[in-house]
Amino acid sequence: MTSVLLQNAHIVDPVTGRDGVTNILIEDGTISSIGDPSTPSSVQTFDLKEAIVAPGFCDMHVHLREPGYEHKETIATGTAAAAAGGFTAVACMPNTDPPIDSAEVIRSILDRASGFAVDVLPVATITRKREGEELAPLAELADAGAVAFSDDGAPVVNSQLMRIAFEYALMFNKPLIQHAEDLALANNGCVHEGTVSARTGLPPIPSVSETVMVARDLLLAEYTGGLYHVSHVSTAGAVELIREAKKRGVRVTAEATPHHFTLTDEATAGFDTNTKMKPPLRNRDDLEAIKEGLRDGTIDAIATDHAPHAPHEKLVEYTYAPFGIIGLETAVGLTLRELVLPGVLTLVEAVEKLSTNPRRILGLREIRLEPGEPANLTLFDMNRQWTFDVATSRSKSRNTPFHGESFPGKIIGIFNRTHFIRQIT
Ligand SMILES: [Zn+2]
Repeated sequence: MTSVLLQNAHIVDPVTGRDGVTNILIEDGTISSIGDPSTPSSVQTFDLKEAIVAPGFCDMHVHLREPGYEHKETIATGTAAAAAGGFTAVACMPNTDPPIDSAEVIRSILDRASGFAVDVLPVATITRKREGEELAPLAELADAGAVAFSDDGAPVVNSQLMRIAFEYALMFNKPLIQHAEDLALANNGCVHEGTVSARTGLPPIPSVSETVMVARDLLLAEYTGGLYHVSHVSTAGAVELIREAKKRGVRVTAEATPHHFTLTDEATAGFDTNTKMKPPLRNRDDLEAIKEGLRDGTIDAIATDHAPHAPHEKLVEYTYAPFGIIGLETAVGLTLRELVLPGVLTLVEAVEKLSTNPRRILGLREIRLEPGEPANLTLFDMNRQWTFDVATSRSKSRNTPFHGESFPGKIIGIFNRTHFIRQIT
């Protein structure tokens, strides 16, 4: 790649505290100067007209579906969707086939992902085959490059296994990412238990199925000193438990998805299977609690739980449809529209939840927008509105409830290593 000069770039960097319009010169994947650089002769120049340049966004909860479910998504299509959505890194969940429970699978994923602009960070299983019976070889998995451990898609039910996993993962300073759900209480339901489920008659999942599991895990994390990360928090009760646990020093972090801070269970009343996900869309009080949790720092990260399914799989009766929606290309738009414009988060706080915090939780290198640092950047224009047309999605799947919606903050592109992927020319 030749040198690139980004003119009139509005840097927003929570780490260095930089916030202002300037010029950035990038050479061979490194920020070589900021301010008024003397430009080399073969420089590509882009006038950003005060568009935002932020540290590269990291989605810590993505299902890339490879290996095993390549009809839904592949590493190639998933990372293309991530780049289009403004992400330079994605953590991929281990509910693949085979699951990510051996060094061999991790190596094959890293190998297949090596040429792409978006970094792929494998999350390995906590238990062998994700069966919840015995511990996976955590040392071997950490060695091979796992950034965290999770049986996502399912919880670790056995408390003794969870306790041992907490203690063991601590040796590598890696978090356990829990899909917090008491399956017995969830009772094969598919939507939030409340007035809407009473109306539709769809089988319900009570909020307490989440809070019970979060409560148990917090006690185990406190007892062991382990690192606990709660996936896709959806209930007011879980937010409150996490808030209290943080106050007493439990090493807990949490993420929320854009759909949980944007939609409520009212969206399920039309039986659109693109409103079916786990945990389910909750009620207005839960949604407000998620926003408050994001605002006061109880919830550290915004993560998509990007869960692609092929059209024929979602085109079935609601109860038979698989859980999950795609989310990589709408996450930044929803964050800006639902949280930043209404003043729930400042732009800097939104960048922290999309970049700084998820990277810290996963133990990744801190991104600093300073000369000499690698150019790992997300570029978006707050003044440019755009409309999401799922037909143009880079994902292999089309399962989204946000088709046709308009958003602020058009993604201009990403920089990562020597890649410069532009969405706008
Ligand atoms: Zn999950």
